[in-house]
Formats: sequence, structure tokens, C-alpha cells
Amino acid sequence: MEIIEKIIENKNGTTILAHSYQSPDILSVADVKGDSYMLAKAAAKLDSKRVVVCGVRFMAEVVKILSPEKEVVLANPAAGCPMADCVDFEKLQAVKKEFSNIPIVSYINTTVQTKAISDVCVTSSSAVKIIKAMPEKELIFLPDRNLGSWIQKRIPEKKIILWDGCCPVHNSVLGSEAKREKRRHKDAFLAVHPECNSDVTSVADVVGATSTILDLIMDLDVPVIIGTEIGVYDFIKANYPEKKVYQLCPDKLVCKDMKLTTIENVYDAVTGKGGEVIEIDEETRLLAKKSLDAMLKYGN
Ligand code: SF4
Repeated sequence: MEIIEKIIENKNGTTILAHSYQSPDILSVADVKGDSYMLAKAAAKLDSKRVVVCGVRFMAEVVKILSPEKEVVLANPAAGCPMADCVDFEKLQAVKKEFSNIPIVSYINTTVQTKAISDVCVTSSSAVKIIKAMPEKELIFLPDRNLGSWIQKRIPEKKIILWDGCCPVHNSVLGSEAKREKRRHKDAFLAVHPECNSDVTSVADVVGATSTILDLIMDLDVPVIIGTEIGVYDFIKANYPEKKVYQLCPDKLVCKDMKLTTIENVYDAVTGKGGEVIEIDEETRLLAKKSLDAMLKYGN
């Protein structure tokens, strides 16, 4: 029997959540697929008692923070996020102490410890809306300086103090590479993720979260150069072969952490033979939940 059929047959009420950057075979068995915000919102409403997360560690932590009564399993325990891990916790504690009157807004791509010290959490698709809705005029944003700068341009009336972190995958693309692809595909829209640096976002036709890029591809009948992790391109190619898409820098826009999870890992996690059950101490969970609750409140 094919492993995909075996997963479906053995699920027994387990819900599989998969990030859009996962491979097409994993996405084909997922009950919920989407970007971090879609997965977080789905996690808050799930009925099932057991959830397998196909993505990276912070995504499984978000599910556990919002659904502590569920058994949450990260399909591949080695899948982390270098951007989430770039925040020095002691430095963050010192910043919090020194600037206690300025709210800390953290990207969802952070560890549970970072979320616990933050006031509000955001995703790339919700950040502008949430920060606009916050009453404060000044805030600290972490960890992605690229996303933070992009938000700042959209909300000039607020002062955003940036942390010096980034996604090494998106940040690796050069402006010259983006321009070259635009010259090569003159009829195509260049749609990039705001985790790309400003040399790239400044020449893009559309800058937005994974969901925005997917909507653009699905809703408009135009060729699109995809400037985010290659999983989105692979998903479109596997499911919508009629769509004309190109991948920007296919050798660079590959997140090795996102690619660590295999369909075999999913089978093992579903059947209880593998994966890691996520545990978070209750005090940290409740603090982190406050920042996620604020995200869901302002985001909705
Ligand atoms: S693509 Fe970047 S932000 Fe996303 S998991 Fe990989 S390193 Fe982290």
C-alpha cells in the first residue's frame, strides 16, 4: 500500500496541519494547509485531540499554546527556524527591562520564550493591520528587520524600532537577481515575500505573505515569478499545472528546515512511532498565549 494511503487509513482522528512550504506529498495528506496565520487560526478551533504539525518547531509550539489539552506532535523534531533562534533571550530580557513602556511586537516566527516576553504577535499577512490597530505610537519589532522595514513604510505614522535579525533564506536573494528575472520574464508579475531585503522588495510588483502570493496566482490570469520559499512553486506545479509560474532563485529560496520533514516522518508521527510531543510549562504558555490572543483579537 502507498504510504499516502497508509497515512489516511491510520489517522484515527489525528489532524494533520502542514505549512505551504511543505512538499506536495505532505500537502496532499494535510487536513489544514496554509501560512502561519492560517495554521494558527485553525489550531484555535480544532476539535481533534491529537495534531501532527508538518513545518518547523515554532508552528507546533503555536498549536500547543492555543490548544494545551491536545497532544501536539512535531513530525520532524530537528526542524527549527534559524530566524526564530536568532533572538538572544538575555538580550531581549534586557531590552524589555530598559524599554518597559514600549510594547514588543514579535513575528510569529519566534520561540515560545520570545512570545512569552512579547506583548503582541503578528504574521506577515496580519502585521500591518495589527500594528495599525494598536494604540501605541512606538514599538519594538522582532526579529526580522526586513519585514519590520516593510511594515514601517506602510505605517509611517508609527516609530518601529527594529531587531537585527532576518530569515537567511529570503534575505539571501539579491536585488540584481530579482531585476534579472524581471528582464527574463517581461510579461510576469514579480511577487515576493516581505522577508526579502529592500533591494528585492523595491523592484517587486507585489510584496506580500504566502497567502497573498497564492491568491495572486489563483485569482489573476498572469504569469508570476514567485519570490518566496520554493514550496509554493512546487505546490502550484503539482496542483495547478495550467498556471504559468517561475521560481525566483530556485537554488537559494529553499529552506532546509522546512524540507526536513518527509512523508515517512508524517506516517511515523501519525502512528505514534515518531515525531516529538511538544511540552511547554504552563507559566510560559499562558504568557505566550497573551501575545497570540492579542494577534487574533487585532487581526480579526
Ligand atoms: S523560510 Fe526562513 S523564516 Fe521560514 S522556517 Fe525557514 S528560516 Fe525560518
